[in-house]
Amino acid sequence: MIPSPLMSVEEASASLLTMAQAQRLQDSESVALSDARQRVLANDLIATLDLPPWPNSAMDGYALNVDDWKGQPLTVSQQIFAGQTPEALLPGTCARIFTGAPVPDGANCVEMQENVERLEDGRVRFKQALSADQNIRPQGQENRAGQVLLAAGKRLGPFELAVAAGQGCTHVSVVRRPRVAVLSTGDELTEPGTPLKPGCIYNSNRILLSHWLSALGCEVIDGGILPDQPQHTRLKLEQLQHAADLILTTGGVSAGDADCLGQVLRDSGKPLFWKLAIKPGKPLTVGYFGNVPVIGLPGNPASALVTFGLLARAYLLRIQGVDDVTPLSFPINVGFDWPKAGSRREYLRARLEEGRAILYPNQSSGVLLGASWADGLLEIPEGCTLQRGDTARFIPFCDLF
Ligand code: AMP
Ligand code: MG
Repeated sequence: MIPSPLMSVEEASASLLTMAQAQRLQDSESVALSDARQRVLANDLIATLDLPPWPNSAMDGYALNVDDWKGQPLTVSQQIFAGQTPEALLPGTCARIFTGAPVPDGANCVEMQENVERLEDGRVRFKQALSADQNIRPQGQENRAGQVLLAAGKRLGPFELAVAAGQGCTHVSVVRRPRVAVLSTGDELTEPGTPLKPGCIYNSNRILLSHWLSALGCEVIDGGILPDQPQHTRLKLEQLQHAADLILTTGGVSAGDADCLGQVLRDSGKPLFWKLAIKPGKPLTVGYFGNVPVIGLPGNPASALVTFGLLARAYLLRIQGVDDVTPLSFPINVGFDWPKAGSRREYLRARLEEGRAILYPNQSSGVLLGASWADGLLEIPEGCTLQRGDTARFIPFCDLF
């Protein structure tokens, strides 16, 4: 393989994360749990309660003390439902108990109701041998008060929000939303809802990125569509630089005459890198305009998707304080041959079928439909050929959102 003059995905990724480290958001806000999904925890969430707060029954059944039980039927001395506070167990008796109810003092075992017989005189006969602690969920089984449940930097999904609710929290302290200005560049672009002029296409990147950004906890500033004119481009970047933590653009970063975004960034900004050994997505351009970082994604929808998912996403999570920004990936057998090694790392739209990755038939960077068909991206390293049954790394889309 001829050595590639392009920047590697690793180098680009490291450079973006270094940049992100310098742009870490410091402000936090308190947000209701119902609004906190996808946000990032600003402080450790520390338990105020033991969970469970007291030993409770894991079954509908009967609570007794096995240590002073000789196998004889027992009288039922009380009935305890979830939400009630029991009396101490009368020695030599058992208590009717239901799932989630506190186990009374003096009891050390719960037998499930299926394994007992109610005698005609109301007493309970236990049909099997019993052991101490069975079917009792001990106090603090899940966590102890004072324990760090979720560390600062944790992204909040439904599980984390449920953990916070379990401690009685109504609000959590989260890092403020990154403000991201989204700019679509291209004379040919038209917003849906407007008649299409000859030679034009509708803007599909804007909605894709807006939703993806929201899912990453960001506030989207819609910068609209920018014509391919350097003067306009410069003015727009000047306007946005004070409003945004990041300017995210699509299009205009290749080497063509109409590719103004890249030109302006190189002439009037501070370019950090341009052109990666990645396919699709080679023209990705990153730099600063004034003090604001700019990530210039290529305009082709699949290129925008791949570079956003693999590079911009990690940047946006890291500025919010997320530590592990590497997307989930795993090796998978491929269901196709890949006879020709490429000089750039490829990310193919692929689907998992019967434990193998298969490819969307059209991998053109202009084709968006393949992303909807696919379950994720299959990574083929530069210089690599594959035969059916070989393994390659798969990055599921579900983890990229
Ligand atoms: P560019 O990166 O500006 O050279 O654009 C590459 C290709 O992507 C061209 O065919 C553009 O028309 C197309 N494209 C650029 N921006 C968008 C967009 N926002 N939505 C859909 N297609 C786009
Ligand atoms: Mg363009």
